[in-house]
Amino acid sequence: AARAAEAASLAAAPPRPPATDWGGSFEWDGAVCAALASPFGHAAFRPLQREVVNATLASEDVFAVLPTGAGKSLLYHLPGVVRPGLTLVVSPLVSLMEDQVHKLLGLGVRAALLAADATDRAQAAAIQNAAADPAASGLRFLYVTPERIAKSKLLMSRLQKCHVSGQLARVAIDEAHCCSAQGHDFRPDFLALGSLRDNFPSAPILALTATASDAVRADVQAILQMRRVVCFRGHFDRTNLRYEVRPKPAEPALLDEMAAVCRRHGGGGIVYTLSRADAEKVAGGLVERGVVAAAYHAGCDSAQRRSLQAAWQAGAAQVVVATIAFGLGIDKPDVRFVLHHTMSKSLEAYYQESGRAGRDGVDAEVIAWWKPSDMYRLASLACESRDRSAAMAQLMAAASYCEAPASCRREAFSTLFQQPVHQCWADGARRRRRCCDNCAAPPAEAAGAEALARGGRLAVCVLRVLHDANESADGDGAAPAHLTALKLVEKAAAPLGVKVSRDELERLVLRLVLEGAVQLHFAYTAYSINTYLYVRPSLGRKLSGGVCSADELGLSTAVRASCSVPAGGKKGVADADSSVRPDTAKAAAPRSAKRKAASIN
Ligand code: ADP
Ligand code: MG
Repeated sequence: AARAAEAASLAAAPPRPPATDWGGSFEWDGAVCAALASPFGHAAFRPLQREVVNATLASEDVFAVLPTGAGKSLLYHLPGVVRPGLTLVVSPLVSLMEDQVHKLLGLGVRAALLAADATDRAQAAAIQNAAADPAASGLRFLYVTPERIAKSKLLMSRLQKCHVSGQLARVAIDEAHCCSAQGHDFRPDFLALGSLRDNFPSAPILALTATASDAVRADVQAILQMRRVVCFRGHFDRTNLRYEVRPKPAEPALLDEMAAVCRRHGGGGIVYTLSRADAEKVAGGLVERGVVAAAYHAGCDSAQRRSLQAAWQAGAAQVVVATIAFGLGIDKPDVRFVLHHTMSKSLEAYYQESGRAGRDGVDAEVIAWWKPSDMYRLASLACESRDRSAAMAQLMAAASYCEAPASCRREAFSTLFQQPVHQCWADGARRRRRCCDNCAAPPAEAAGAEALARGGRLAVCVLRVLHDANESADGDGAAPAHLTALKLVEKAAAPLGVKVSRDELERLVLRLVLEGAVQLHFAYTAYSINTYLYVRPSLGRKLSGGVCSADELGLSTAVRASCSVPAGGKKGVADADSSVRPDTAKAAAPRSAKRKAASIN
């Protein structure tokens, strides 16, 4: 009986339609090609543009994940021009929408913007009335912020009128990843967009974003109540970008390097910084070095921001030095370089920010300056995130990207987006092409057995010192802050004739953190958050039990190789034996930290 029921239910299920070839021919091909050339002025489609436009015109709900610069705006501009009716465009960034409205009007296409504030009442009323009856008003595109959808009943009632008369052709949601709390740029206002499907059930939805993992995409689809979604995912690999990570020197040298990069490129660029203070400092430093640069951050008023963005778009200001507030969806295709004064807080964010370079397809350069201690600065921010362990995992991926000693930088993105590296890089021609610093460098010599042995012993020494500090005090979990830990290890190594530079030590400790041998804990002080280092409990138990070799602790080759102790040194780390027990550990273990320390994993 069960089998019969199963058979019946199978029989009842509608047959799956054969997968549509969205790149095939459709009745609207002629109109679409004509519109591509005029008014939009493009000679050909970019990858997946034709497919997405076809699925949208076939009234499907479409989710398109295409890299920055792929030309996502055209995916709703073309259908909106080819077919009658109104296209509602929801986007988080007013400046981007202003640009687009301006452009469309310049092409002779009627478009209007309703931001949350700004627009005066009479003007807003006129726009809303035009939206209610696009056939009469000729309005093709209405751009709105998500806040406006959430808050304006009048807008919704006008759109309802438009929908009821069959004139709401589609809803396009740009930067759709902002819907999901699992993404890197969650905006609560986007949650209100779930009401669009309730209110306008027959308008197909087109969701667009540059970065969304499958989990984020599923979340966004559920929030927007999309149905039977046709999904397109472009290739993540930006073949015209050259990726590089440079060691971060002290400020004057760093600014000299940055200024040199800016001067080498004639065109415009962006420098991203972690804080407003950094943005001001770097902009000042670049100006002193003869670069036309200005800072852009949340502290600038909106008029300032607007004029700076306009000057930069027009090429009058070469460089914008900005916090991440700048650039979501900026429409400047010819950005020649994107520099990171401090690494982004996740690899996904780095991909997005660096991806603002070279949207015109011409070669561009992206460089991140990195030093291991930035990891702790970023970690103290990540630990304040809503989902701390996810934020830490994302930060670890960003740090691993910077620390990758030899592998192609693109491979980090390949892992992130679960796509193979682009064919043209995988064919061995990579070294001859612009790819990344690691691919351009001569193949590194693998560390010899002796160097690995020394590195292993030094790693054990580090773990031993940290473990002793963890065990000291009352024995229930005190830990040295990261800088204190470095000093302790230096002290422990010094009498043994081991010379290890601070940089090498930092690198080794970071490697231990990245591989989970050392865990970060955070403690709040009145003014900041301190990061403390703990040896992973399973390793701590081994150390307590007298285990003292890198092999027995299971330390990876990467850990052992991360510390390039100069070979042939007087005594070598060989003697930095695990029996080191610094008597300073107690003093360094902050008692106050242990109560408040919050553990992350
Ligand atoms: P995205 O939103 O995907 O980052 P945009 O829609 O802002 O990208 O487009 C980036 C740039 O590419 C714009 O300057 C746009 O005019 C241009 N563009 C889009 N489609 C094409 C095309 N088919 N051919 C040439 N240029 C295009
Ligand atoms: Mg865009």
